[in-house]
Amino acid sequence: MIRTRISDLLARTDFGAEVCVKGWVRTKRGSKSVNFIALNDGSTIKNVQIVADVEKFDEETLKQITTGACLCVEGTLVESQGAGQSVEIQATAITVYGTCGADYPMQKKGQTFEYMRQHAHMRLRTNTFGAVMRIRHNMAMAIHRYFHEHGFYYFNTPIITASDCEGAGQMFQVTTKNLYDLKKDEEGKIDYSDDFFGKTTSLTVSGQLEGELGATALGAIYTFGPTFRAENSNTPRHLAEFWMIEPEVAFYDINDNMDLAEDFIKYCVRWALDNCADDLDFLNKMIDKTLLERLHFVVEHDFVRLTYTEGIEILEAAIKNGRKFEFPVYWGCDLASEHERYLVEEHFKRPVILTDYPKEIKAFYMKQNADGKTVRAMDVLFPQIGEIIGGSEREESYEKLTQRIEELHIPMKDMWWYLDTRRFGTCPHSGFGLGFERLILFVTGMQNIRDVIPFPRTPKSAEF
Ligand code: ATP
Ligand code: MN
Repeated sequence: MIRTRISDLLARTDFGAEVCVKGWVRTKRGSKSVNFIALNDGSTIKNVQIVADVEKFDEETLKQITTGACLCVEGTLVESQGAGQSVEIQATAITVYGTCGADYPMQKKGQTFEYMRQHAHMRLRTNTFGAVMRIRHNMAMAIHRYFHEHGFYYFNTPIITASDCEGAGQMFQVTTKNLYDLKKDEEGKIDYSDDFFGKTTSLTVSGQLEGELGATALGAIYTFGPTFRAENSNTPRHLAEFWMIEPEVAFYDINDNMDLAEDFIKYCVRWALDNCADDLDFLNKMIDKTLLERLHFVVEHDFVRLTYTEGIEILEAAIKNGRKFEFPVYWGCDLASEHERYLVEEHFKRPVILTDYPKEIKAFYMKQNADGKTVRAMDVLFPQIGEIIGGSEREESYEKLTQRIEELHIPMKDMWWYLDTRRFGTCPHSGFGLGFERLILFVTGMQNIRDVIPFPRTPKSAEF
């Protein structure tokens, strides 16, 4: 018999039909005469209830049906008598594909997220992780659809890169050299000429520089790929391996860039509300009671836009009025998450886009303002998360860009290919980077970024 996915089955009303479902047992309860089995196959947060009359099955089979076991069930679709479900299956045949012993790590309910992280290979079978992973998939679909519908091309930038000047974070080195027998020159420097690529290479921290090459040829591109940062930040918002979405658009200025960021992120959140209702309801009930309210709020309200300088003034005023922060606030400081969240959650009570940051705390490629002090950067700040997007209008002047590169002592010779965009038909352009997992954090209401990616990579942790 053809298997029906449980998500499809629960929508059916053709009672009396013979059906087949396959999945993993969530719970079994029952009496002497009848067993009720809650079966889940990952297609939905909802289980289907299997009703098994004890007399129809041998004792051995029924004994093997424990939490976590995998079953194939054939039976008749019937209208449910119980509350909370519309249909159930009156079983006629049950095959146990895989038994599951009492040492199954997801046996008990209500385990801590820390415990589940230690058993991340099995946590995907829980309700919470099922919901998060289905939402994660849906967000990826929303992102591709948004850009496709708006004339952007999906552009793949390299994961192994020889440019270490992006400055976005510490890099992981890529080498095939024998680390036990490193050849060094007279100065004690490692000789990479005989390494795989003939030079030092690393895992990418951002696809932006290559993305700019795409945008200044195709008009509008976006990347969506893995990104690596060897920063030793053990926070609930940083991973060593995460996924980033980076649109880059020719002829966009900073205002167009902000409009894009706002429209894009609202589209994604709306997509979740429209397509992930069951999973969001579950998370709203079990993880964060204000989740749905927050998601609706974001799609329905304009983001506040202000300059970094205005943001600092607000924070300084708050401190004057007795608000305490762990880190100091002064013009020129890099805002900490606590400052960003103050602006969003306490002062404006809505998402904020901060622009025109001091050039010292931003990357070399950002367009310089006439004041000589600030650059056309923009960070999108979200409730619970802090920075979710970082972007800018790019410096299109070859002279200004090379001058900044010199000031920062970035090795110019490695940058020749990037600088060629400014030498040959340069144009105004802008772009930004959205951390995929930060978006998933926001949409799911989860508290820790390690719990919105199947297999997290963080300092001292690369299990599974
Ligand atoms: P933060 O200050 O939070 O470390 P950043 O300024 O280093 O962020 P960018 O270099 O601008 O971030 O990267 C663009 C986006 O990528 C960020 O807005 C964020 O959403 C995401 N991001 C950056 N670093 C990480 C990380 N280690 N793990 C997960 N997402 C990240
Ligand atoms: Mn960072």
